[in-house]
Amino acid sequence: MAYLDITALDPEKTIVVATGNAHKVIEIEEILGRVLPDVRFVALGELGDYPDAVEDGETFADNALIKARYALECTGLKMAVADDSGLCVDALGGAPGVWSARWAGVHGADDANNEKLMREMADVPEGKRTARFHSSVVLAYADGSSLVGEGDCEGRIGYDPVGTNGFGYDPLFLPDDTPGRTMAQLELAEKNTISHRYHALIDLSAKLTRG
Ligand code: IMP
Repeated sequence: MAYLDITALDPEKTIVVATGNAHKVIEIEEILGRVLPDVRFVALGELGDYPDAVEDGETFADNALIKARYALECTGLKMAVADDSGLCVDALGGAPGVWSARWAGVHGADDANNEKLMREMADVPEGKRTARFHSSVVLAYADGSSLVGEGDCEGRIGYDPVGTNGFGYDPLFLPDDTPGRTMAQLELAEKNTISHRYHALIDLSAKLTRG
């Protein structure tokens, strides 16, 4: 694969996005681009074949900052954005939390994670199935400063997976904003108006415009 030439990018007007997920780059560019209109957003994977950062933080914000700073180190650019997100279930004391991607043991094993969630929630009554997706989005600068946006999507955990859109825990998550429909039954455009990442990006945008 041909990579973009980093030296051809204007470091004052380029933000490297520390994700391999193309949908996230579009979502981030869509929302942050409104307050940073002259900036070009480039995925880390477009600039080289870098191994994943080691996400060993205790919070979503810690991990987002680790990923953003790693992207700065890899590229020598001046601005990087990264997000970290996951599912927090009240009846499970906030689990899986920062362990969401690897909860069942293997990173990104969505089916195994959902099986585990159904098992752990099997005896939890209707009124206690509340949960939220959380996202922290960090904009890190090469001078060491950073800004963080935080967002939640409130909902509850269903009994069986429903829907085929999205990824991760979407088939078991019923957002309060879309009664009777799981996140996996929403079109991407609709999900992007209620999601934790959307709210975190709006929060970060507000902090950017406040200066
Ligand atoms: P990441 O921050 O995108 O790496 O997400 C970590 C993990 O949280 C994912 O592997 C999913 O299991 C879960 N997760 C985060 N965001 C979502 C979402 O929008 N829908 C479903 N699962 C999600």
